[in-house]
Amino acid sequence: MNRFEKERAEMIDLLRQRGIKDEQLLKAMQRVEREQFVLPSFMNSAYDDNALPIASGQTISQPYTVAFQTEKLQVGKDLKVLEIGTGSGYQAAVLAEMGCRVFTIERHMELHLQARKLLEKLGYHVAARCGDGTVGWNEYAPYDGIVVTAAAPKVPQPLLDQLADGGRLVIPVGDLETQSIQVITRVRDKYESIEAHGFKFVPLIGKKGWSEK
Ligand code: SAM
Repeated sequence: MNRFEKERAEMIDLLRQRGIKDEQLLKAMQRVEREQFVLPSFMNSAYDDNALPIASGQTISQPYTVAFQTEKLQVGKDLKVLEIGTGSGYQAAVLAEMGCRVFTIERHMELHLQARKLLEKLGYHVAARCGDGTVGWNEYAPYDGIVVTAAAPKVPQPLLDQLADGGRLVIPVGDLETQSIQVITRVRDKYESIEAHGFKFVPLIGKKGWSEK
């Protein structure tokens, strides 16, 4: 076992201790080489349970947050998932490892291009585009799961519209300081919501999100 494999196994143990139970998800996170998704200068910290800086002033989410949001999606093989906020591409890789059909949108061209190239190099089949994810990706809707990895001022209506019946939207909502993660399930034309507190995300910027400074 090399150094990164050992650190990855320790990260999985920590996620279990923190309450993550989905074995398919834990297996997927055991396989994705997180060190490939961080800046070279942060490789030594790739498996710390922290968010880390990436290009364009953004962050790769902390492993626990990735695990928490993904577990709440309750997705698996062949289910269609839309991610808003590709960032490094790490969460998209985790979803692809779980066998999901992954669609991901990033607003920064630099990050979009880097993540698309890396995901291809590592053999992950992910449909990625650059644009404003607050309006979703209607062309491939409906989705069994939509995960938003940046904080929204309120839930964007297009994302609710693009959920399949029984599908889940996992989205941090709040002000710029603290947010709660809302898990919204579509039941025909009704939406049922539960909340988890104590997370901090970068802002979701766009037509149905925050305005750019
Ligand atoms: N999922 C990412 C990963 O695994 O590295 C984490 C990404 S980071 C926490 C959130 C990302 O959302 C940033 O890269 C940011 O540029 C992006 N973002 C913010 N607003 C967006 C929008 N309206 N559409 C698409 N991406 C957006």
